[in-house]
Amino acid sequence: MSVEELASRIRRAFESYWAGIPEISDLEYDALVRELKTAAPDHPLLEQLGSPQVAALREIRLLSPMISLDKVYSLPELLSWVKSFARTDRDERLLVQPKYDGISCRFDGQTLVTRGKGETGQDISDKLSLIELESADGTGPVNRPARGELLIRPDRFEKLRSVIRSRGNTVYRNTRNVLTGFMMLKDPREVRQLEFAMKQTGAYLTLVDYDRVSFEVSAGELESRWQELTDKIAALPYPMDGIVVKFADAVYRQSLGSTAHHPRGEMAYKFVNARSPSALEDVEWSFGKNSLTPVAVIRPVELGGTTIRRATLHNAKNILDLNLQIGDDIVVERAGDVIPHIVSSSPGENRRNAMIDRCPGCGTELVWKGPELCCPGPDCFETRLCRLSAAVRALDIDNLGDATLRQIMKQFEVRSFGDLLKLDKRKLVSLDRFAEKSAANLYDALQKARKCDDFRLLAALNIPNVGINVAKKLLKTCPFDRLRTLSADELGVMEGIGPERAAALRKTFTEEKTFIDELLASVELRSSFGAAEKQTVCFTGKMPEKRAYYEETARQHGLEPVDQVTGNLSLLVAADPQESGTKLDHARKAGIEVISTDEFLARFPPQKKGQQEEEQLSLF
Ligand SMILES: [Zn+2]
Repeated sequence: MSVEELASRIRRAFESYWAGIPEISDLEYDALVRELKTAAPDHPLLEQLGSPQVAALREIRLLSPMISLDKVYSLPELLSWVKSFARTDRDERLLVQPKYDGISCRFDGQTLVTRGKGETGQDISDKLSLIELESADGTGPVNRPARGELLIRPDRFEKLRSVIRSRGNTVYRNTRNVLTGFMMLKDPREVRQLEFAMKQTGAYLTLVDYDRVSFEVSAGELESRWQELTDKIAALPYPMDGIVVKFADAVYRQSLGSTAHHPRGEMAYKFVNARSPSALEDVEWSFGKNSLTPVAVIRPVELGGTTIRRATLHNAKNILDLNLQIGDDIVVERAGDVIPHIVSSSPGENRRNAMIDRCPGCGTELVWKGPELCCPGPDCFETRLCRLSAAVRALDIDNLGDATLRQIMKQFEVRSFGDLLKLDKRKLVSLDRFAEKSAANLYDALQKARKCDDFRLLAALNIPNVGINVAKKLLKTCPFDRLRTLSADELGVMEGIGPERAAALRKTFTEEKTFIDELLASVELRSSFGAAEKQTVCFTGKMPEKRAYYEETARQHGLEPVDQVTGNLSLLVAADPQESGTKLDHARKAGIEVISTDEFLARFPPQKKGQQEEEQLSLF
C-alpha cells in the first residue's frame, strides 16, 4: 500500500467509526495507524485522528497540546515500559486510570476545549449546558476546572438518542454517533431546544473527570495489583477501551518530554477483549434438544463497535454459581467474534429470581440433568421441534428451517422424524413461501434421507473428535446397535479411540438416547459392519492405460472395482489426485483415501495371467 492509500483507508475507517458503522476492528485500525507512522511520521492525518469533527465556536491554541498516547496490548509490554523510565524499580509511584473512548476535553473554569487537532483545540463552550460533570465529589454542572473525557453513559444512550432523533433524518446507531450528533449542533436555538428536552428526561452528556477514577500504586506492585485495578475500573458505568498508566510525579513526567507523537511519561494499555458494565434485565430460556439454555438479556452496551443486547449464560447451574438475579450489575466481555459472556456480577437494588421451575413451553415441572435444566414432558412441543430440527441438520436436509418445521408440526400434526418423512408433496406445496419446485425439492431431500450410512449418522451427533473417519472405523468393527450399549471402558480399548473419545461417546449415547431412538426408528441405516472385508476401488480421470487394465489389476488383488463413490468405498484412484471433480470432492468429504495411478500400481503390482496361476499352484 502506498502512503496515500494507507491514509485514505485510515480516514475512511475513522469516519465510519464515528458514524457508528465501524468497518474494521480497533486492532486493525491501530495497526494501520502504526504503519502510517512508520512510513510517514509527519503525515498531517496523524494529527487529525485525536477526536471527531465538532461544530466549534473557534479554534484555540493549546499551551500544552493533548497529544495521543502510545499503546501496548499486554502486561509484559507495559511492565517493560515502566522499567525503562522508572527511577527505582520498586518505589516509583504510578497512576492507573481508565481510558475512555469519547472526546478528550479540558475545562479551565470558563472554556471547554476538545483535544482537537495537534496544537489547536476546539472551543465547545456553547454545549456546556448539555453536559454533566462526574467527578470525585459527585455529579453536577461543569463548574470547576477539570480534565477528562466527554462521553455517553451506556445507561443513558436510549434516552439521549430519543432526544436527538427528533432532528432531521440522521440515523443514530451508537453512543459515539449520538455524541457527535450533539457536538455538531451549531444553531444556539437548537442547543436550547435539546437542553430543554434533556431536562425532561434527566439524561445529559457526561464529562468524566479523570481524577475521579485514578488509583495510585508503586511500580513494584503494579503487576500483582493489575487484575484488581482493572476489575475496579471495568465496573464503573462508562465503556472503557483501555487503561492509562502514568508517572505520578507530574514534574518528572513532564521532564520526560515526548516523541514526535506521544508523551514518554504515559502509556495506554488497550484491551484485546472489550469489556463493559451493564445490567441483567431478563433471562430468556431457549429450547435445545435435551435441555433449556438460559440467555442473558442485558442493558444494551457497545463492545468493539457492536451493540450487545444478549450474553450467553451457558447453563442453568451457572446462574446459581454466579448467584445471579435479574436487576444485578454485571460486566460483559466479548473476545473476537465469540458470543459475549458475563465476567462478574454484583447484586443490584431491585433483584428478582432468574430461575424457572416449569417449562415455559408446556408447563411441565423441570428436572436437573447435570448442570442443565430439562423438560421431561413427553409432549413438549418446543423440545420436539428442537429434536426434529437437530435431525434435519444431522441428515443434511436443505431448505428446511425452524420456522417451516414449526409450521409443518402445527399444520400436519407431525411429531417425529418418521412423520416428517411420510409427508406428501401436496402438503408441502401449501406451506408458506413454498411453490411447486421448492416443495418437490424438499420432498426429494426427505426421501433421500430415508436411507443413511450409519457412520454419517454417528458423525452427525457432533461428539467431540468423532468425525466421519473415526465413525467409519468404529462401525466397521462394531454395529451401531451394539456400539450404543458398550461401557466407556469397552469403548476405550477399541482401536484409535482412547479414554476421552470413549467418555464423550458414552455421554452422548446416554444423554441423547431418546433423540437417537427416534432417528433410528425412522431411517433405514446402511451398516458399515464388516465392510473392511470387501475392499472396493473406484477409478477416475484419464489414465495412461485403458480402464479395464486397472480394474483387472484390482481384481487380481481381491479388490472389487465399482463405478460410484459411496461412503463405503475403500479407495479412489485418480489420474490426478490434486484435481477437483465430483468423485474426488465426494471422496474427500467422506474421508476416503485417494491415491494416484502410480501409487496404485506400486501398491498392487499387475501380474501376468500365468504368473498368477503359478503362484496359486505353488501354495499347495
Ligand atoms: Zn416442555
